[in-house]
Amino acid sequence: MRTPPGPKKTSYTKSETFTNRSDDVKNNFKIFLDMDGVLADFVLGWCSAKGLASPYANGLNGGEWDIAKIFGMSGEAFWEPCNSAEFWANLPWTVDGYEILKTCCKAVGRDDVYLLTSPSHSPESWKGKVQWVQEFLPSMQGRMIQCNCKHVLARPGYVLVDDCDVNIDRWRESGGVGVLVPRPWNKLHARSVSSWIDDVRTAIMEATE
Ligand SMILES: [Mg+2]
Repeated sequence: MRTPPGPKKTSYTKSETFTNRSDDVKNNFKIFLDMDGVLADFVLGWCSAKGLASPYANGLNGGEWDIAKIFGMSGEAFWEPCNSAEFWANLPWTVDGYEILKTCCKAVGRDDVYLLTSPSHSPESWKGKVQWVQEFLPSMQGRMIQCNCKHVLARPGYVLVDDCDVNIDRWRESGGVGVLVPRPWNKLHARSVSSWIDDVRTAIMEATE
């Protein structure tokens, strides 16, 4: 069993709270925070389920989003381990996911931070994602949105924090502010891992100034 790189699940409890909006935060900003690849480590969970090493280890496949293409497998084979709620509910945190969440809450206040996540084709994905939020971020359950067309929510002052190049591009084209989280599978793959969280902090603060 591989050890998740991020904090252990048990680090977060239902009593965990985040910074409330301070009086000097402008009221018109809202942050929409992606889950897979930002908070939840989908790639690590998928690789563990398949018994495969990360295709992004040692700088390989930088910028390639399509894992099925890297491994030369069919879409059906790729999604096979993801067809249970347990898969989604048990995804580990990313190494910097909790810091990203705290940064968002600090920037705009916790009540203006929403979870915006794309489910897979399986209805079990919807269920498992809700279970993940219920376990780790129960106070955010009422601010969780599941849809595959994130950009329809974009507007000025609305910030999407996401690891997918396409999602960020569409969000920006629709009038919103996009913050791409550096990850090995997107266009910021060359950034050093040690600077990821600083890059995200800076981008979020600049986006909500
Ligand atoms: Mg994502």
